Amino acid sequence: MCGIFAIYGHEKAARITYEGLFGLQHRGQESTGIVTSDGIKVCKDKCKGMGLVSEVYVETNKEAKEGRVALEDLIGNIAIGHVRYSTTGDSSAKNAQPITVNHKGNVYAIAHNGNLTNYEKLKNELENQGSVFKTSSDTEIILHLLVRSKKRSLENKVYDALNNVRGAYSLVLMSKDELVAARDPHGFRPLSLGKLDGAYVVASETCAFDQIGAEHVKDIAPGEILRINKEGEKSVFLLENQHKFCIFEYIYMARPNSYVFNEYVHGVREEFGRQLAMEHPVKADIIVPVPDSGTYAAWGYSQKSGIMLKFGLSRNHYIPRTFIQPSSRSKSVELKLSPVKKILRDKKIVLVDDSIVRATTMGKIVQMARSAGAKEVHVRISSPPTMHPCYYGIDTPTKEELIASSKTLEEIKSFIKADSLGYLSKEGMLKCTRRNKKEFCTACFDGKYPI
Ligand code: AMP
Repeated sequence: MCGIFAIYGHEKAARITYEGLFGLQHRGQESTGIVTSDGIKVCKDKCKGMGLVSEVYVETNKEAKEGRVALEDLIGNIAIGHVRYSTTGDSSAKNAQPITVNHKGNVYAIAHNGNLTNYEKLKNELENQGSVFKTSSDTEIILHLLVRSKKRSLENKVYDALNNVRGAYSLVLMSKDELVAARDPHGFRPLSLGKLDGAYVVASETCAFDQIGAEHVKDIAPGEILRINKEGEKSVFLLENQHKFCIFEYIYMARPNSYVFNEYVHGVREEFGRQLAMEHPVKADIIVPVPDSGTYAAWGYSQKSGIMLKFGLSRNHYIPRTFIQPSSRSKSVELKLSPVKKILRDKKIVLVDDSIVRATTMGKIVQMARSAGAKEVHVRISSPPTMHPCYYGIDTPTKEELIASSKTLEEIKSFIKADSLGYLSKEGMLKCTRRNKKEFCTACFDGKYPI
């Protein structure tokens, strides 16, 4: 659950990356970093910090204090950037990305979204051969493998490295004068290519292109390693594999205005809502979205059921996403959401959210709606029960913590104290996209892990 961004051939590379990362902030809020190059020297020191993009970067050197990064120090027309939400390695400054290495006078920097499944095995092998790791992040493996390649071109070095790793990766990598964007052969995570003022841009999601005014050209294909340098672009391909696009990008992760896996996210979410209304109809007065994750599905549910959508929960936008603070999770739900009493009072309501993970959030929301006077609270979830952890880059708790892994539908309904509970079926969910259903990874729902 990270966001990556890159640009090649723009005089304002650092500033555009900074703006692009703003557009990807929903993918990670723990740390951020930008590495740049002017073709000769790579600016890789004092380029990362803990926190949000708005908290880490400042305009000038004079303003930069401990832990803050001055954009004016990030010189050059090539840049890669990252926002992090840790899935491997702890959330600390040493694991912030981009990660850089110096090897025989060459500097390489990498920013990665995903999770490598053979990381421990590879790390063990490399350490036995004398490699020293400076982070506990799986991403660093790729740099170690890259510098061991005997190939001359950067794209072939990257090919050698990626040929050894398994799992989910969408990544950008740079040397002092070249940029590479690559996506694993299953294509778990999205990665798109765009153009801005003649420069190449790469981002986890197209919403970052909207942010900077770039045009979306195409997606980096599953298995593609695209190299960009002064001679232009060149692609090499890893051995093709069955596509396994992460369905959870549509359910929760991606921004609604992004075009992911060839479809607009908001459109798929609305369709989930319509399908949910067909599968689990209920007689109610109003449909209430859980902001912001349930908004589009709730709209779809309302359209299909003909029941009016009413914003019965108001969100405080100054509290970070609840999942970020595991220690005080239930408290932060109450801080984040408030009931709109006049809308809820004496009503039979349908609450629509995207998923139930531990069920802390939904339990609190049902309680909130009841204390605001709601007569009946029916919960509808626009995805199937989350029963299995993700090993491909979505942060999920252990199987024991996932409520649906050990409780029945009836037990979950009682736990959250709802009058009724309905989840979207897996088949119904897969019907909502235009793609062949075999092209999606649904491991978090059915435990069928493709790797
Ligand atoms: P929980 O209280 O654990 O059931 O969390 C459910 C809420 O977390 C839902 O409202 C989702 O929108 C949100 N959510 C689902 N998956 C994730 C995730 N991987 N990271 C952060 N938030 C998530």
